[in-house]
Amino acid sequence: MLQSPHSSQVAAVPAQRVPARDRDQDAPWHTEAVCRRDEAGLFFAPSKEPTAARLSREEAAKRVCGGCPVMVECREHALLQPEPYGVWGGLTAAERRVVLARRRRRDVELKKATRPADHIAAAG
Ligand code: SF4
Repeated sequence: MLQSPHSSQVAAVPAQRVPARDRDQDAPWHTEAVCRRDEAGLFFAPSKEPTAARLSREEAAKRVCGGCPVMVECREHALLQPEPYGVWGGLTAAERRVVLARRRRRDVELKKATRPADHIAAAG
């Protein structure tokens, strides 16, 4: 099981910004996560967080993600799990739900578009 890059349980080594071409392809993506030490608590909501505070915290988290060398990998991980809480890969949980809904609609449309023979067979 993949450990959250936000977790304080991971090694306390600050992430390095490494160009993709120079990365160790065998290393797990989260070893390069900029948020490995989320000391400011930006990525997950505390209980009973007021809306204005949540929006501000999420924007701050997204700014961190914007400078993260593994943002794409992190985002795809969060979408595939799917991760139900927190900011991952620059997206909030609500934004990830929108992306997943779009992907599901796209997949349905692609299936329809690539199976015209079914319609012909059913009609004939
Ligand atoms: S993209 Fe954001 S949430 Fe994901 S590892 Fe990087 S800093 Fe953390």
